[in-house]
Amino acid sequence: MTTKRPAVFLDRDGTINVDAGYIDRLERLELYPFAIDAIRLFRRAGYLVVVITNQAGVAQGLYGEDFVETTARFLADRAKLGDTQIDGHYYCPHSPDAVVERYRVDCECRKPKAGMARRAAEELGIDLARSVVIGDRWRDLAVAQAVGARGIMVKTGYGATEALNPPPGMTADAVCDDLIGAAVWLLDHPVA
Ligand SMILES: [Mg+2]
Ligand SMILES: [Zn+2]
Repeated sequence: MTTKRPAVFLDRDGTINVDAGYIDRLERLELYPFAIDAIRLFRRAGYLVVVITNQAGVAQGLYGEDFVETTARFLADRAKLGDTQIDGHYYCPHSPDAVVERYRVDCECRKPKAGMARRAAEELGIDLARSVVIGDRWRDLAVAQAVGARGIMVKTGYGATEALNPPPGMTADAVCDDLIGAAVWLLDHPVA
């Protein structure tokens, strides 16, 4: 019998890196200077770190899944350089109004749906109830709500404006300035 571990599910654009619209080449992937330090703190606190990202640019034909995988390797390399690691990387390439027909599906993975978190939980042995989702959009926090995890909104990316306009029934457990602020909050608020 194995013990399930809690995870921090991280949105990518606007949370780990600057949201520069559709990021279609590595030069546009600008990590926040504190991102790797935050990831190291999450892991030292006992959390797995899993990226869950909507990449509708694939559905729109702006870049391929191979490029999303390139960015995942890039992030993994940067984490390794910073003496830490990213334990899982999941992306949704779909969109209901995709230009590329094979991605035009009403999938279960596109946030606000929780498919990526559920799949990660199954594949990596994650205890969702002790986990947390961090992102700059309410659709990120909808994933938290759907799986019974805590949700933290960061005010980077769209977060500063999103935080002012919560959709009905949506709340964040915390609103933090950025990912390192979220790490500090989390260390200060362990699950009972
Ligand atoms: Mg985002
Ligand atoms: Zn999808």
